[in-house]
Amino acid sequence: MATQPRIVIIGAGIVGCGLADEITERGLTDVTVLDQGPLFATGGSSSHAPGLVFQTNPSKTMTEFAQYTVRKFAGLSLDDAWCFQQLGSLEVAGSPARLADLTRKHGWATAWGTEGRLLDPQECAALHPMVDAGRVYGGLHVPSDGLAKAVRAGEAQARRASARGARFLPHQEVTGIDQEHGRVTAVRTAGARFPADIVVSAAGFWGPKIGRMVDLTVPLVPLAHQYAKTGPLDVLAGVNDELREASSPILRHQDHDLYFREHVDRIGIGYYGHRPMPVAVDDVLSPDEAPQMPSMLPFTEDDFAPAWQESVRLLPDLAGSGVREGMNGLFSFTPDGMPLMGEHPELNGFWLAEAVWVTHSAGVARAMAEWLADGRPSTDVHECDLNRFEEVHLTPDYIRERGCQNFAEVYDIIHPLQPMERPRPLRVSPFHTRQRELGAYFLEAAGWERPHWFEANAPLLDGVQVPERDEWSSRHWSPIAAAEAKATRERVALYDMTALKRIEVTGPGALTFLQYLTTNNLAKKPGAVTYTLLLDPAGGIRSDLTVARLSRDRFQIGANGSLDLDWLRRHLPEDGSVQIRDVTSGTCCIGVWGPLARELVQPLTREDFGHKAFGYFRNRLTSIGHVPVTAMRLSYVGELGWELYTTADMGLKLWDTLWEAGQEHGVVAGGRSAFNSLRLEKGYRSWGTDMTAEHDPYEAGVGFAVRMDKEGGFIGRDALEGRSERTARRRLTCLTVDDPARTVLGNEPVHADGEPAGYVTSAAFGYTVGTTVAYAWLPSAAAVPGTPVIIEYFGEKVPATVAAEPLFDPAMDRIRC
Ligand SMILES: Cc1cc2nc3c(=O)[nH]c(=O)nc-3n(C[C@H](O)[C@H](O)[C@H](O)COP(=O)(O)OP(=O)(O)OC[C@H]3O[C@@H](n4cnc5c(N)ncnc54)[C@H](O)[C@@H]3O)c2cc1C
Repeated sequence: MATQPRIVIIGAGIVGCGLADEITERGLTDVTVLDQGPLFATGGSSSHAPGLVFQTNPSKTMTEFAQYTVRKFAGLSLDDAWCFQQLGSLEVAGSPARLADLTRKHGWATAWGTEGRLLDPQECAALHPMVDAGRVYGGLHVPSDGLAKAVRAGEAQARRASARGARFLPHQEVTGIDQEHGRVTAVRTAGARFPADIVVSAAGFWGPKIGRMVDLTVPLVPLAHQYAKTGPLDVLAGVNDELREASSPILRHQDHDLYFREHVDRIGIGYYGHRPMPVAVDDVLSPDEAPQMPSMLPFTEDDFAPAWQESVRLLPDLAGSGVREGMNGLFSFTPDGMPLMGEHPELNGFWLAEAVWVTHSAGVARAMAEWLADGRPSTDVHECDLNRFEEVHLTPDYIRERGCQNFAEVYDIIHPLQPMERPRPLRVSPFHTRQRELGAYFLEAAGWERPHWFEANAPLLDGVQVPERDEWSSRHWSPIAAAEAKATRERVALYDMTALKRIEVTGPGALTFLQYLTTNNLAKKPGAVTYTLLLDPAGGIRSDLTVARLSRDRFQIGANGSLDLDWLRRHLPEDGSVQIRDVTSGTCCIGVWGPLARELVQPLTREDFGHKAFGYFRNRLTSIGHVPVTAMRLSYVGELGWELYTTADMGLKLWDTLWEAGQEHGVVAGGRSAFNSLRLEKGYRSWGTDMTAEHDPYEAGVGFAVRMDKEGGFIGRDALEGRSERTARRRLTCLTVDDPARTVLGNEPVHADGEPAGYVTSAAFGYTVGTTVAYAWLPSAAAVPGTPVIIEYFGEKVPATVAAEPLFDPAMDRIRC
């Protein structure tokens, strides 16, 4: 390898240009950017993006990406011409439901550090004079949002990169990627070969085509999206000029899938309400063949008709005008609406940064550059990681169907628990038939159908007091969860834990491998189970795992998802001494939890399930009736019990055996809703929601799983040196809501001393403790038990108090018995 890695970026759109800038800024200057089109209006999506930047997003990561784009572009210019106009944004509500949603959105803005204000209809009209106040219920104004000039911002960043040594080459269509021994070595175009140590595909919606060159499924689908411009409008005459282009805030009318901006004396209208129009990437014309640009398809006027009608209703000044020009512009949609970032799982040095909006482009570029230069992005990117998908998420049909649905839902009001409607059911556990018989209400997790409660348990609600909920928080929820939680605390319940990822690690090097990857000590005799963490080199929590040592060289890991598998695989020793297998789909798991769990299980096995013989955090290979199982004495709900694992073929038999034996003990099936409540009462963290790579173990309250003195060290250890619970400046903090009748759900801002101080991660009503339990990130000074705080829920102030945790059974009497 040369002294500097040779980096080739495919694509000079807003992402490729931003990336070249961010990488060269970090001192990696051997950068070549290739584009099949001309520079810098290459013919890709960035070439005609109208550039509206709305920063607020339910995802903290996406909001931070957008915040950085705004900060960066606001300071950029090209030959004195602006790259970003901070006009502010106005999102109007055409319905009471939308107004409520904008209030929720205002909460996200506050939680993630963007200022915004809710407006009444008159204030909306005062801010954007074309808006008919009579058509709106109110709006959300974010003053720091605005308009990006995408091609200009791309070129301005490219110039900075070029000044540091990068080169940008137009008319270079990449046709192949060379590789040797699992590493990229070069990028080929029709007439040239560019040696490379690192290749980043920033090819936008052409991503799947580049992916095919390296046997990588890139889960995105190009979809056409309509954008049109009116003729000149009297009302805008003399208001703007060619230099300034626009003066009113950018505008969204999401109830009708519309957005608007000014183009000097015209209005540009974007529309997401039309039928999804997916395009096969191989059908996209080349820059030479395309009549205008490859990403611009002919405008289909009929699809736009409803958009025009609604636009005139909101902006009556449009009435005398009409659509003068329009296009169906292509850009990328992924199965979950999030970008694709990260390294190929099997080809070292091949990276992706695709399915990125102009809005998030600079933030994504910065994170990618940090990843390449420093080994990790400073923002948590697990929601965007290319390797987050399950195998079932990578079929062409799934990618297309979910992509289309994401297009259709892009402006919809989405409840945090709302699953995609199609394709379902996809993955079902062996207990599915029984669960349906019990009236399961299923939501989706990693493609699995997962019960949230069971209608069959409704009669158990008799005499159980459950506070009324507001309409929003009662969606995808039932008071039956209370009865299931009660039955778990008082008797025994079966929980389907199949959806959690299970990984088998075997081989003579397995222990050494896992010891180095995780924080806790796994060098225990077979039969042990250990809670441990995967850290990145900077000490950020990549995941939390339970590792069961089944025999000397065989471990079973309870993991959080595909990213864990990817991380483990990346660190496999090359000597073949360790094998890794994802056993999730071929196996299943039932959690049998509750004070009567032992009474239920013991008669079904010859093994002694007594506390002395089978202690907490121990495992056994045994049988339950006719079913061979791996039994682990663990509990996510804070009650006595076991997780029982078996192969998928024996799953139904396991369920039936436990169910039948449980009848005399009043066994119930428990759903995820009760589970979540019980785990929060016990203070058990959920990785990805409560803690991520942005947090260290001490801040997150899982420092107990770190053994700093472990022989041989572990990834992340050095970064933790000198840190402790005492040095943590922020903490994952337990809150209880003062009024048991009030609910919060997660992602709400938390105010301390009248100022925004943090945000809620997870929340649920604690049926045993009798109020809502919320976990929140707060500065350590505010994370002191007894401190009063305010959670902002749909704009309402919900008083809460910092509590000592765990709220339930701190002495662990109920588990260790
Ligand atoms: C009508 C419309 C309106 C939009 N409005 C907004 C908006 O208001 N706000 C917003 O944030 N986003 C908006 N978007 C989305 C946004 O435009 C895109 O998500 C973004 O521009 C993608 O940038 P990119 O750099 O990833 O892709 P592109 O700009 O498409 O760049 C990819 C580049 O890769 C090159 N390439 C591909 N294959 C090869 C190859 N084999 N060899 C060499 N080069 C190759 C292409 O030529 C292209 O230049 C809109 C999109 C459309 C279509």
